[in-house]
Amino acid sequence: MARYTEANCKLCRREGVKLFLKGERCYTDKCAVERKNFAPGQHGRMGGRRRKVSAYSLQLREKQKVKRIYGVLEKQFRNYYSKASRRSGLTGENLLQLLEIRLDNVVYRLGFAPSRKSARQLVRHCHVQVNGKIVDIPSFLVSPGQEISIKEPSHNLGLVLSTIERRGKQDVVSWLTVDYKSQTGKLLEMPTRENIPIIAQEHLIIELYSK
Ligand code: SF4
Repeated sequence: MARYTEANCKLCRREGVKLFLKGERCYTDKCAVERKNFAPGQHGRMGGRRRKVSAYSLQLREKQKVKRIYGVLEKQFRNYYSKASRRSGLTGENLLQLLEIRLDNVVYRLGFAPSRKSARQLVRHCHVQVNGKIVDIPSFLVSPGQEISIKEPSHNLGLVLSTIERRGKQDVVSWLTVDYKSQTGKLLEMPTRENIPIIAQEHLIIELYSK
């Protein structure tokens, strides 16, 4: 399956914001955006971000940023846009909603993995169940009422336990519920924009795609 291979921190530096692609490291002073807050490459230090930017460039960067946050490639991202535009309501909100209910994102949001990338690995390696059945497709869309759990033989995975240890002290988003003892969570309802904690101007992405 196609995936990004460029170093994660470079992606954050390119966008000029923390995209939280590396789990624990993102919350420490080792974060590359904290240490080197300029774009990677030869012209990064020259303050390329201070150039006057066109509307198109802003739209493009916003799309790239959101794609990278969720680890989705262009073709799949555009498919999400098409699906979002066919649904009733705001296309931008629909788009983020679809990205949020991807199984890998739900596993990450539940606090079973430190990053979406690790969550994707857990899913691919058959450690995750939906309503008691293994689902190994990271893009699987979870429906309200479905239970997501780490399968029992995998309950002692170091990655899961250490993330629960850290994330267990934080609240999960309001549209999910989780029980760390049984390593089980549930999607209570579809997320609304105000309950999706990412900083994005999704209207720019819609403007870009609707040209
Ligand atoms: Fe981005 Fe995390 Fe790397 Fe910081 S540590 S630059 S937030 S991936």
